[in-house]
Amino acid sequence: MRLVLLGPPGAGKGTQARRLAERRGWAHISTGDMLREAVRKQTPAGQKAEPLLAAGQLVPDALVLELVAERLAEPDARGGFILDGYPRNPQQAEDLAALLRERGLGLDRVVLLRLEDEAIVRRMAGRRSCPECGAVYHLEFAPPRVPQRCDRCGAALVQREDDREEVVRRRLETYRQKTAPLIEHYRAQGLLVEVDASGEVDQVSQRIEQALATSA
Ligand SMILES: [Zn+2]
Repeated sequence: MRLVLLGPPGAGKGTQARRLAERRGWAHISTGDMLREAVRKQTPAGQKAEPLLAAGQLVPDALVLELVAERLAEPDARGGFILDGYPRNPQQAEDLAALLRERGLGLDRVVLLRLEDEAIVRRMAGRRSCPECGAVYHLEFAPPRVPQRCDRCGAALVQREDDREEVVRRRLETYRQKTAPLIEHYRAQGLLVEVDASGEVDQVSQRIEQALATSA
């Protein structure tokens, strides 16, 4: 299955995409992770993206498309994939449709995670990330086994710049302006499935599975 996970920053897209990908054996394609990796490695794309990410702004469509096209060409994406954080605006949705069409493919579903702004801000404030391996934790909902240490690699966890409240609020505004129009776009194509993203991670996972099962 080829899937897009849509929703505001902080709705749990990354966590849910990772879980769903693991259960189903699909590739989890996170443009956020790919961009942060490029920044960490200080590649040309990473150097261009760094100040934009720090300010909570969007990275140019062409740059992201390049990363996505390369990733979709890898073998593990052939059996199915979940796109997390892409597309983020109508142009990227067109880019993606064209990219898939070239390969004779299309999207099967677009899952929209719904969550109110105040719940998002509360959630983001507790997020901690591993600067080494990219694992994401939450002080309240998904704490690491040892406080402030990554379960996978033991590195000290950090609060990402883009999880700070003022940056979160800017990202929510950007989401409303640029990404929310995609909801109607995909609804009109009959691809949209809506899921309540409040509550525990497991509950949300179950709702996603149910929504995929009943919309098939
Ligand atoms: Zn780690």
